[in-house]
Amino acid sequence: MRRQFIQRFGDRSRSVVQLVVLSTVLSVVLPAIFLTQGCSRFDAGNAPSKILLVSIDTTRADRLSAYGYKRPTTPFLKRFSKLGVRMENAFAVMPTTDPSHASILTGQYPRKHGIMRNAARRLDADAPTLATFLQERGYRTAAITARIGLDPELRHIAGFDDTNAPRAPKKWRSAGEVLRHASEWLDEREGERWFLWVHLWEPHLPYEPAQPYRDKFIKRPTRDYRRYSELDRFLESAEQLKEQEILRARSLYDGEIAASDRAVQRIVQGAYDAAPQGSPLVLIVSDHGESLAERRSSDLIGFGHGVLLFNETVRVPWLTVWEGQLEPSVLETPLSLVDLAPTVMDLVDPGRRYETDGRSVATSLRSREEPEPRAFYLERRLFNSTFREDLRHPETAIVDYPWKLIENEGEDVGELYHLERDPLEEVSLVGSEPKILEALSARLARWRADHPLPRQQGPKTRMAEQGEREQELEREREQEALRALGYID
Ligand SMILES: [Zn+2]
Repeated sequence: MRRQFIQRFGDRSRSVVQLVVLSTVLSVVLPAIFLTQGCSRFDAGNAPSKILLVSIDTTRADRLSAYGYKRPTTPFLKRFSKLGVRMENAFAVMPTTDPSHASILTGQYPRKHGIMRNAARRLDADAPTLATFLQERGYRTAAITARIGLDPELRHIAGFDDTNAPRAPKKWRSAGEVLRHASEWLDEREGERWFLWVHLWEPHLPYEPAQPYRDKFIKRPTRDYRRYSELDRFLESAEQLKEQEILRARSLYDGEIAASDRAVQRIVQGAYDAAPQGSPLVLIVSDHGESLAERRSSDLIGFGHGVLLFNETVRVPWLTVWEGQLEPSVLETPLSLVDLAPTVMDLVDPGRRYETDGRSVATSLRSREEPEPRAFYLERRLFNSTFREDLRHPETAIVDYPWKLIENEGEDVGELYHLERDPLEEVSLVGSEPKILEALSARLARWRADHPLPRQQGPKTRMAEQGEREQELEREREQEALRALGYID
C-alpha cells in the first residue's frame, strides 16, 4: 500500500483529484512538521536576548528584607525586586541541593528527573531542560556553579555550552570566585543571545561570612567564631545548643544572606552591562531554605536542611525582573519551583507545550493577575541508612493552599497544617479535620502512584546492609565520573 501511495504521488501526470488530495495531505502534514521541529517559528524579536538565573543556595524567603524581614539583609534585592515580580509564596520541591536544582532546570519533580539525593545519579540523557530549550533557540548557555555536585557535566544536565564548577577535592567555592568566572564569560558574549545560570553557596553551613558581614547583625562581636563552623554540633538537635549560640548562629546566617545580596548585585550589574540593548530577563531563586533551630525538640534537626518539609526549609525567594515587559507586582498565589522552567520558556517562546510537571505563570507576570490556585507536591530526599527510623521511609507532602499535608510512609498518621492560621506549622489538625485529611491524603497517594520512585534509588528499608553497599557503589561511581572528567587522578 505504502509503495503504491509513493508511486502515485511520484507520478508527474496527476489528475485534479490527486492534486486536491495532495494539497489536503500537505496542509495537515506540513504544520505538524513545523510544530515537531519546535523552534522553527521562534520569534526572536519578542524574546529576551539575555537571560540570567541566579540560585542562592539555602536561602529562606523570610530572612530577606526583600520579603519583609526586619533586618536589612538584602538592600539590593529589595530595590531590584520592585522593578519586577516577587513571588510571595514560592516552594522548593525538595530541601536538598542537587534534586532541587534539577527541578528548577527541568520543571520536573525529582521522581521524574531521577535525582533523588545529592551526588547520587544523573539526569536521563533525553530529559528536557531549560538550557536545551534555549540552546535550540540560538542562546549561548552557561552554568557557573559554586558546588561541584551541580556541575552539569557530572549530573548530565543537558543543554549547557559552557560549564564551570569547582574541581575536586574542592567541593564548593566562594561567590568571589564564581563572579570572576561569570564576569569573564559575559565579557566574551558581545552580540550573542545568552542564558547564564550562576549558583552561589554562601548561606549554606558553615556560617562563616567575611567581614563586614560577619559582625553586621551581632551586637557584641566575639573573636571566637570557630565554634559556629563546627558542622556536626549545629546539625544536631537544637536542644544541645545554648540560646546565645542559636541567636549568634542565626545572625551569622543573616550575614551570609547579606554577603549574597552584594554578590547578586554585582552579577546583575554585570548582566545589565552585557545587555546594552534591552534589559535582561533576571530570575533570582533559592533551592531550599534552612532550619534555624526553631524546633527545639530532642529528635529534630537544629540547623540545616534536607530532613524536614516545614516551610522554613521549603519556602524560598523567587524574583523575576524584565524591565519594560513585566508588570511590577507581588503575586501571592503559592507556586512551586517546577513552575519556573515552563514560565521562562513561555516568556521566551509563547504558546509552546512543554513536558514538565509545572505550569507557566507568564501571563500573570505580564498582567499582575494572580494565577489560578493549583496544588503541588513536596518530597524529602531518600536516606539509605540513618539514625532515625522515620528517615528510612519516603516522606511526601501536598500543598493545596491554605492546607498542607505531610505523610511519612512509615507512619500511620500524617501532619495536617492550615498555613494561613498557623504559618509556623505548630499544630497538626489531623484529628479535627477528617474530611480535609481524607481528601488530601487520597490526592497525595495518587500522586505517589503516578510518580513512582526511580527504581535504582528506592530506600532499602528492609535491607540496610544492601543500602550501605549501594551507597558505597554510588561513591565509587561518583569518583569514576570525577576521574572521567579529569577532576581527580
Ligand atoms: Zn542547597
